[in-house]
Amino acid sequence: MTEKKDIKSMTFTELTKELSDFGEKPFRARQMYDWMHKKLASSFEEMTNLSKDFREKCRERYTYTTLEAVRVQESKADGTKKFLFRLMDGNLVESVWMRYRHGNSVCISSQVGCRMGCRFCASALNGLERSLTASEMLEQIYAITRLTGERVSNVVVMGMGEPLDNYDNLVRFLRLLTDENGLNIGQRSVTVSTCGLVPGMRRLAGEGLQITLALSLHAATDEKRRSLMPVANQYSIQELMEACSYYFEKTGRRITFEYSLVRGENDSKEDARMLALLAKPLCCHVNLIPVNPIKERKYVQSDRASVEAFKNILEKNKVNVTVRREMGRDIDGACGQLRRRYQEG
Ligand code: SAH
Repeated sequence: MTEKKDIKSMTFTELTKELSDFGEKPFRARQMYDWMHKKLASSFEEMTNLSKDFREKCRERYTYTTLEAVRVQESKADGTKKFLFRLMDGNLVESVWMRYRHGNSVCISSQVGCRMGCRFCASALNGLERSLTASEMLEQIYAITRLTGERVSNVVVMGMGEPLDNYDNLVRFLRLLTDENGLNIGQRSVTVSTCGLVPGMRRLAGEGLQITLALSLHAATDEKRRSLMPVANQYSIQELMEACSYYFEKTGRRITFEYSLVRGENDSKEDARMLALLAKPLCCHVNLIPVNPIKERKYVQSDRASVEAFKNILEKNKVNVTVRREMGRDIDGACGQLRRRYQEG
């Protein structure tokens, strides 16, 4: 038996071809795509304007990706909801729903685990299990929309995993997510965060997408960066800055630098001055994040005064900077922690 095809990962063009190869009329593809990506049906059975016979055939030929919410935690402080989803093969991923004044934002995972090994990150502790398919990335947003009953307007790919280590599925996901025949999320409302895989960043610049690229920088010198992120042994900050300028040139989209402040590691005034030197010529935006401590590592958050001083130095150097509000700290908001706790029992 040949493996069943993943129908929810097909683009509209692919779906049209697929169904016409089976002798179906073109309008079938339109109906089906609508059910999957607009009405967010959770099974073929729900597609009531398709004949029973056709739905039965679909069940035989295709997998219909769905996720099961095994745990939902809501923050009492800010209403943030964290979802632990079980994939159809039993693997677990996390997604987070946040309500902002400008709309609802969902943070999704792109892989089960991660192989980048950033020292402060809980998702990296057990390495990579596997990458997610496009439909598994989409379904995190669809399932959350169904469960909350509210429209999602922003998507950030900042959950578990390194999105550019799952490049083809990521780009497929981005096209489906922003397709006007589907959920139609604005490209400018989508952010992809990377630990800095230079070839992927350059390739993404050429996809003709208007999404925001966020670079997890976390240090302003190669030496410091290497002590926090093994990937820094592969690509230097110089190469990263060149890839960022290239991305900006090609897309016109301003880059975001993410910088998690770790006490005594990367939060000194000198660190801030070095970061300003990198940020200024790129006219990028810097997002400071007090590191979320994980119990497996010794890293500690910078104190309020150091965060303030760090921010002031950047501002004095005319760098656009914000300190990220910590959403959902009371519900294991930091990457990968809910899944870990669940697995530990
Ligand atoms: N792999 C991608 C996206 C997932 S991580 C990337 O590296 O960008 C999303 C962001 O959370 C990254 O900036 C990452 O460095 C940061 N992060 C991971 N663990 C963290 C922690 N414990 N505290 C603060 N930020 C963390």
